[in-house]
Amino acid sequence: MMYSSHVRLPFSPGDGYPDPVWVPVIRSARKTLALTLKPDGTLLVRGPLRIPDAEVTAFLAQKESWIQSHLAKQRDAAEAGEPERLTREEIDALIRGARTDLPARVIRFGPAVGVSWGRITIRNQRTRWGSCSAAGNLSFNCLLMLAPPEARDYVVIHELCHRLEMNHSARFWAHVARVCPDYQAQKKWFREHGPALMKRMFG
Ligand SMILES: [Zn+2]
Repeated sequence: MMYSSHVRLPFSPGDGYPDPVWVPVIRSARKTLALTLKPDGTLLVRGPLRIPDAEVTAFLAQKESWIQSHLAKQRDAAEAGEPERLTREEIDALIRGARTDLPARVIRFGPAVGVSWGRITIRNQRTRWGSCSAAGNLSFNCLLMLAPPEARDYVVIHELCHRLEMNHSARFWAHVARVCPDYQAQKKWFREHGPALMKRMFG
């Protein structure tokens, strides 16, 4: 036997959602309450047959911060959509800017890392932010100009540290941390925003 009803969400879910939100409750022979957020942004509660609506409402109130944060994430993802492609002219402008900005950062951080370097090349790529060859030649992605300055610093320091360690070992990360103590936050920035930024490369 199944019995379903709707309970009113006991808080406002914010922009883009109807207010009030009515949440379907499916009652069945289960013992506990469970909340699901479906990909379309709608909520669903499953619960025991005889659970009163008031208890479901209290359960939803308890889950408010979880619900709010997940709805916000879905909203951001929907708004982000397909990132806009940069034009050839825009890429050229980024390359021009990167040719002065990134070498300046190399000059600033090279001594702190304690290494020398060779040629610095600016590329437009959809695959990597930077690289460092065995000979010490550095290359950087012009899309870095669309990243925050501290994220740019991190990539520069990362590549310079490859002059000390040509790998991503614990020793390598210790060098990075020495010059860029908040490198974890910068890595997180690239995890969250990097893929969308790469998709903006034309072609
Ligand atoms: Zn690396």
